[in-house]
Amino acid sequence: MIIGLDIGGTKLAAARVGPQGHARSVKTLPTPILEGPTAILDAAAGLVKKISGLSEISRLGIGSAGAIDPVNGVVTSATETLPGWNGVHLIEEMSARIENVQRMVVRNDVHAHALGESWVGAAQGTNLAVVVIVGTGVGASVLRAGSIDPGAHHLAGAIAHMPVASAIHPICSCGKPGHLEAVAAGPGLVKQYHGLGGDPRVTKGHEVAIRAGRGERTAGFALDQSAMALGRALVGIVSVVDPEVVIVGGGVTNAGPLWWDRMVTTFESELPPALEGLEVRRAKLGSVGAIIGATCDEV
Ligand SMILES: [Zn+2]
Repeated sequence: MIIGLDIGGTKLAAARVGPQGHARSVKTLPTPILEGPTAILDAAAGLVKKISGLSEISRLGIGSAGAIDPVNGVVTSATETLPGWNGVHLIEEMSARIENVQRMVVRNDVHAHALGESWVGAAQGTNLAVVVIVGTGVGASVLRAGSIDPGAHHLAGAIAHMPVASAIHPICSCGKPGHLEAVAAGPGLVKQYHGLGGDPRVTKGHEVAIRAGRGERTAGFALDQSAMALGRALVGIVSVVDPEVVIVGGGVTNAGPLWWDRMVTTFESELPPALEGLEVRRAKLGSVGAIIGATCDEV
């Protein structure tokens, strides 16, 4: 039995992953972020045990928010998306909670999602692709021949903290102003909407998207700002990497065509002429991408 576990800032999700890369019996829980790392680890382990029962787990793959050292299985840095997560020894902690695991692999959740897209999703067959995930946070990963380039500090592709002119006022999850995540991620979209005088009862990014779809101007403006910020950030990343394709996934991509079209048109209109025609493709694996990719054997 192979199980993938995705530890995100909003939810924990786990599933059995079959040999063809399909996720089965997906189980989810809200991440108990206010209760701290021990509660998160307990909940995550409980989710895995629910799936495995008493069976032996041949491999448990964990994709977690934060910068992850996959060799030692340690979180080397984390933002307020998961408070207190920095320094957590994931392999040690999960091994102490789940006994019947033969092998455990740990990596960053966006890196995991990218590996999943490479295995059975939108990046299959590519030699150089950038995978961008926009959800509770914003992250990216560079896939070279199906492998992740993790960077010197396990932070390659961490576009959350790319400078964006429109993000001067909201403070990023890392505590600094001027960063992409503060406007482009789901919570950033809501903050922007509130900052523009939007309805304070709105707490989720998809509610802003629904209101924008109904023609609410404030919601439409916030959605535009979020989509344009991401489109511009993609121009920045492809200018450095020069990939064959950019793959975009994550919860915010469910915001609908208003968001997606604005993001793509911004990207296309600001792309340097030498890169004209570069495709932005939707990720295929939806909310189970990180679960599937977490189980890949590469470290
Ligand atoms: Zn930041």
